[in-house]
Amino acid sequence: MKHASAGRSTRAIHGANVTDAHGAPHLPIYNTTTFAFENTEALLDVADGRVQGPLYTRYGLNPTIFALEETTASIEGTESALAFCSGMAAETALFAHYGRDGIVCVGDAYGGTMELLGNQLARLGISTTFLLGGELDRLEDLLGAGAKLVFFETPTNPTLGIHDITAISELAHRHDAKVAVDNTFASPINQRPLELGADLVSYSATKYLGGHSDLTAGFVLGATALVEPLKGWRKSFGSTIAPETAAMLSRSLRTLVVRVRQHNANAQAVAEAMEADPRVSRVLYPGLPSFPGHALAAKQMSGFGGVVTIELAADAATTVKVVDRLELFALAPSLGGVESLVTQPVTTTHYDLSPEERARRGITGSMIRLSIGLEDADDLIADLTRALDVVEL
Ligand code: PLP
Repeated sequence: MKHASAGRSTRAIHGANVTDAHGAPHLPIYNTTTFAFENTEALLDVADGRVQGPLYTRYGLNPTIFALEETTASIEGTESALAFCSGMAAETALFAHYGRDGIVCVGDAYGGTMELLGNQLARLGISTTFLLGGELDRLEDLLGAGAKLVFFETPTNPTLGIHDITAISELAHRHDAKVAVDNTFASPINQRPLELGADLVSYSATKYLGGHSDLTAGFVLGATALVEPLKGWRKSFGSTIAPETAAMLSRSLRTLVVRVRQHNANAQAVAEAMEADPRVSRVLYPGLPSFPGHALAAKQMSGFGGVVTIELAADAATTVKVVDRLELFALAPSLGGVESLVTQPVTTTHYDLSPEERARRGITGSMIRLSIGLEDADDLIADLTRALDVVEL
């Protein structure tokens, strides 16, 4: 790893080896599908893995992709990163390889992940047991019965539930199972699961790593021995990141540290303002001392992230009115970009769940998820305060 002892901002900017004959400070885009060789021996050296080098872009053997992966691994502080064309593509390779003997998905997960695990992969014989946060006492039995992969998000979507990465990893390792954490909500700036005992980390890089709502990408990171087997899946699924996207993502990563710090600061300010507003009955944000997961979050995170979920002292219809009155917050189902976004979990991420299942997961019609962007926090608070005027106490 280049600059291994340097800070994260330095690694985000200088993490990749750039060798450009013209002196470009960052690697230009190798927008090609294939690479030519001097002779057959040189081609076979790369094809057989004796020499690391470009060969064919779908295989991930492209200099622009190498540079991105090197930088991302350096920021995470691990050996290897594999870049995919989306977060879902990264998860698919992860589950295909490590899920054969059964997966335990702990807590709430992104709706697309639930569909992949609970529906599509189940049809292929990869079975998943879904445990809610409060059902962790069942994990040991499931591991004892042979499950070999524990997967979870922390913080979770949309209720920001916090899971103990170290405790779950210790338990899983006692049963010879691997632990993979979807670290999308936290980003490597706020939380590094591998340092806390997890084996693998996955990302939707579409969110904070990309950070501008203008690219779709994903990662799996970890020790080389664990990440290497996923290369074959990525190659055969054809789920490699495109060079243009890799170059854009490399550019985004250079500002990741400052962006995430400001997301954290803005979200904390919005969460505190919402907590003081009587029209808001509950604020879910790991940075608030009143939040049930605060102590654990403070232990395993170095920042609390940019997503704040609030519950209004209002019915579902009034909640819709509040959402529709917001001007700075765009009504869009994503997070992690420079612009603030708002969604109602019941109309987006958790739309397909039955009322009973939503209740089980603590998701209500009065709930609003805010992805806090990099606008001035005062303006975001003013927008929310004005939109809340329709709530009658
Ligand atoms: N993981 C989390 C936590 C997400 O929020 C998402 C998307 O919203 C994904 C994974 C899937 O990522 P992508 O949309 O990049 O495929």
